[in-house]
Amino acid sequence: MKCLGIESTAHTFGISIIEDKKEIATASHTFTTEEGGMIPMEVQKHHLEFKDKLLKQILDESKLELKDLDLISFSKGPGLPPSLVVGKDFAVKLAKENNVPLIGVNHICAHLEIGRMITKTKDPVFVFVSGANTQIIAHEGGRYRVFGEALSIALGNALDKFGRIIGLGFPAGPKIEQLAKKGQLLDLPYVVKGMDVDFSGIITKAEQLFKKGVKKEDLCFSLQETCFAMLTEVTERALAHCDKNECILIGGVAANQRFCEMLNDMCEDRNAKFYPVPLKYCGDNPIMIAWQGILEYKSTKRLEDLEKVDINPVWRIDEVEATWY
Ligand code: AMP
Ligand code: MG
Repeated sequence: MKCLGIESTAHTFGISIIEDKKEIATASHTFTTEEGGMIPMEVQKHHLEFKDKLLKQILDESKLELKDLDLISFSKGPGLPPSLVVGKDFAVKLAKENNVPLIGVNHICAHLEIGRMITKTKDPVFVFVSGANTQIIAHEGGRYRVFGEALSIALGNALDKFGRIIGLGFPAGPKIEQLAKKGQLLDLPYVVKGMDVDFSGIITKAEQLFKKGVKKEDLCFSLQETCFAMLTEVTERALAHCDKNECILIGGVAANQRFCEMLNDMCEDRNAKFYPVPLKYCGDNPIMIAWQGILEYKSTKRLEDLEKVDINPVWRIDEVEATWY
């Protein structure tokens, strides 16, 4: 079945057409800044500016027409409302004009399922680390359950916040990774509470040290080592508790090689297997939204009522019934 997926939960607006597991065409564009962070209304402007160009690009590339599609799928949430609305309105318009069924999917589920599809894992523990979310997730008793999560800010957000303080622009994660290669370890607060982690105190401490003149490189290295170690500890406990032996890392922060290395070492020590997800699929992308649409449609036949479509900016993963699993 041919499905067009639209992603617009945060910084990226993307559209992809897939036919079952095969990608036919994908085009996306990501909002970035040289300094400062992600301002929701500017991101919305970015998405409105790019949506038609990106659609034209994938239709030209695929040589398909919209009426050839069997399904349109869009990210219903969670995400930034001004960004979500652009994707939702665009999806509804295309569905109505071309008489194609529409399904709205949970963006986090889509991250997990594309990870599972690409790595061919059956029943992994997911370490999901993106700009807005940090959760250790596994499937138990018919749905995805969150075994541990960041209590205040997500890891990507924490890295971006620190990046803003030291003048790196958005997204800061990749630049922090490069600076960390020349750094040395300093003591930063290691905050694990039960199965949850908290990154806000670490950022405050790192900011104080930066203002006292401590080197950026040392702060970047120490920030990475501390935050990744906290999540590795909780992931190990989730693997033991759920008795699972596969682990996958997804979300934009999964691009970080040092984090992959730490999770891989932990998994090797306990005879589990770690699967990094290729960059193309680990951050926000529209392929995962199309794939999630197909999975859900095939298992539930659930569709949106085109007159009542809405976004759900705070949709938690554990509220979704994973009927397709
Ligand atoms: P997502 O929301 O899943 O698209 O992920 C975006 C987040 O990933 C942003 O907060 C980025 O700073 C972060 N990120 C991207 N690349 C890296 C990297 N190499 N190391 C750490 N964080 C990264
Ligand atoms: Mg995401």
